[in-house]
Amino acid sequence: MKISKVSYWKEDMKLTRPYAVTYVMHDSVQNIFVRLDGSDGSYGLGAGSPSEHVAGERMDDNCENRIPEIEELLIGKDIRSFKNIIVQLALIYHDKPALLAALDMALHDLFCKHIDISIGSYFGVRLAPIPTSITIGIKNVEETVEEGIEYKDRNFKIIKLKIGQSIEEDIERSIKLREAVGKDMIIRVDANQGYNVDKFEQYLKETNVANIEFFEQPMKPAVVHDMLQLSSEVREICAADEDLHKHKDALRLVKMGRPFGIFNIKLMKCGGLTEAGRIADVAHTENIELMWGCMDESVISISASLNIALACDATRYLDLDGSLDLASDVASGGFKLENGILYPLLDKAGLGVELL
Ligand SMILES: [Mg+2]
Repeated sequence: MKISKVSYWKEDMKLTRPYAVTYVMHDSVQNIFVRLDGSDGSYGLGAGSPSEHVAGERMDDNCENRIPEIEELLIGKDIRSFKNIIVQLALIYHDKPALLAALDMALHDLFCKHIDISIGSYFGVRLAPIPTSITIGIKNVEETVEEGIEYKDRNFKIIKLKIGQSIEEDIERSIKLREAVGKDMIIRVDANQGYNVDKFEQYLKETNVANIEFFEQPMKPAVVHDMLQLSSEVREICAADEDLHKHKDALRLVKMGRPFGIFNIKLMKCGGLTEAGRIADVAHTENIELMWGCMDESVISISASLNIALACDATRYLDLDGSLDLASDVASGGFKLENGILYPLLDKAGLGVELL
């Protein structure tokens, strides 16, 4: 089967719940979408969420202008050689990870439809379904507690709390959230680079009662060596996010003395399923645990992340709540969410998503 048509567009998607992280306030998000039509009438879908502050990738304002070059790269290509096509694309779009992720995903989707298996079966899903965390952004104590109770009532099992703006308020929010949601809720935190060693150690000490599961990206990548001042026990429960984009970062972190015991893989940072698999191999070899994260994303790319996550032995944590706050999406399906647990759709071909 050959690729006969390429569609590429961007879409504004409103968020049901505007939120802040340490950088800026968000109330809507743009994603890019790729549709590859096959000569047999099937189609493959991919989605990307470009992020300037995370990956240095600006949303391409001239979306349509890019179509001729992508058509040139893909039209007429035999989908059975999709891995070779991805290698060629990665050479060209290595600094556009969300675009590359969308193309890599659409090629996987189309190939899996061609051979009529789910993407999960293709990768070999072998882990039992895992609960996803749901995120509480930076907000005041009352709003934090209120949102925490809402998530508990909706049967979520894990909350990811964004911190990193004000140490005193972070400590108070963490403790009050724990009091409000009870001892059975898992709480993990993401400082989004907001601390230094002293502040992080203060946070650790003063939130001991809050029983935090792990700590994502406490400090800036520029001071990653400072992480080595922390005890190895603490480093084991720290997750690299902004410090880990691609496979080469995974190797660098391992070689510099293991500042993190957890890697947070995001398709939008690394450039898709192919590169994600390489990071996962490093993690597995080095006994580093994997977390799978996302941006604000369509169900298309959340399905891709979920399926590869459950096919990697090192996977322990999911943070795949990126489509849950979208007021609209271009596709449906991809996974089932029940009581905070994400279930892949292993009986549907490809990513298991349909355009709306
Ligand atoms: Mg993060």
